[in-house]
Amino acid sequence: MKSIVFDNWDRQHLWHPYTSTINPLPTYKVERADGCIITLADGRQLIDGMSSWWCVIHGYNHPRINAAAKAQIDRMSHIMFGGLTHQPAIELGQMLLDAVCPSMHNIFYADSGSVAVEVAMKMAVQAAISASGSHLKTNFATIRSGYHGDTWNAMSVCDPVTGMHSAFGSALPVRFFLPQPRSRFDGEWDPADIAPVEQLFEQHHNELAAFILEPIVQGAGGMWFYHPEYLRQLRQLCTQYHVLLIFDEIATGFWRTGRQFAWEHANVEPDIMCIGKGLTAGYLTMSAVLTTQHVADTISRGEAGVLMHGPTFMANPLACAIAVESLRMLNEQDMAARLQHIEHKLRTGLEPARALPNVADVRCIGSIGVVELTHAVDQGEFQARCVDAGVWIRPFGRNAYLMPPYIITDPQLDRLTAALVDLVRHTPQPI
Ligand code: PMP
Repeated sequence: MKSIVFDNWDRQHLWHPYTSTINPLPTYKVERADGCIITLADGRQLIDGMSSWWCVIHGYNHPRINAAAKAQIDRMSHIMFGGLTHQPAIELGQMLLDAVCPSMHNIFYADSGSVAVEVAMKMAVQAAISASGSHLKTNFATIRSGYHGDTWNAMSVCDPVTGMHSAFGSALPVRFFLPQPRSRFDGEWDPADIAPVEQLFEQHHNELAAFILEPIVQGAGGMWFYHPEYLRQLRQLCTQYHVLLIFDEIATGFWRTGRQFAWEHANVEPDIMCIGKGLTAGYLTMSAVLTTQHVADTISRGEAGVLMHGPTFMANPLACAIAVESLRMLNEQDMAARLQHIEHKLRTGLEPARALPNVADVRCIGSIGVVELTHAVDQGEFQARCVDAGVWIRPFGRNAYLMPPYIITDPQLDRLTAALVDLVRHTPQPI
């Protein structure tokens, strides 16, 4: 019988993320998505536990965002940003400066999370060269188990083992990798965590433009939540050694960790900050890089006199209008209370997984709930069982996790957590 959920043409011709063309994992055909429900082509409905990789924060097909998008389409979908500007870009910028840390002053709109990371790294290099007068101060440090995207420089600062280094080898620039801080977010601070940064900076600060990391929550590289003290001490060392600090808040931003942005957990401000994903509520690809006036002006006083980047779709008005509406919706609600509630539900719902023999850890922060297994999960097998159970969860490595849209109802969340515990309970263990 011809399947309507698995499309053969798609299987033969369309490349999906990180997917083999010889032996691709099944991809399920989606008919539509509304709120937290994904409807497959055969009519089956799944509760969404992924927010389409962190970004669909208000749920799918939201009437207010749809209306904002339609209104903007009728005015203009796009206009070049070189030499021209528009109200959606200005309004979004104003709202973003109100939302992020106070020292942010200049905003660069970019196309995607990965491109934001490229832009942030370019900013850091241009600023470092301009400030130091040295072309040696152009490298980067980061921590292991990070993930920053799939473009060239972003790849170079992803975890060297689980990231893309093995596939690209010496084609990638060589960065300084430090151990991942092991002090848990909600545990005791171990001062040994920061020692490698001190050692690195003592020896190599003259080569370092910036230190880049995801604040508090490392996402795709391991779903690990570390202690805020690490960021406080890292900030001091970066200031002392004139190394810029870049926070990649692409996954953590827009309330995902329970705060509007993750820097708030530590009250530590970066010099450069990347945001994306939830920015456009999952409607269109857009990101932004924000920095201090000091960094922006240092770049502008440098050799080039300008920041050397300018994408075609910069500040796309349609994306900006959507982002403005999404931010308005966030600002109208008590998001801190909303996220506290989701976190509580995730904690209680996932707690039973802790007792399972194949579970190494269960951790939750904001609307992220992680069940870390003792062994890597077979993604295809797991996802087939997810679909049978009426939920959409995509495990990665040893982690099976939930990060639902914030509009999820309690019964939907209960079903998601119960399904995840049950799916993990029946996950085959290697013999
Ligand atoms: N940084 C982080 C922390 C991310 O989680 C991601 C995406 N998973 C990116 C950067 C790259 O974003 P994009 O996929 O939009 O290029």
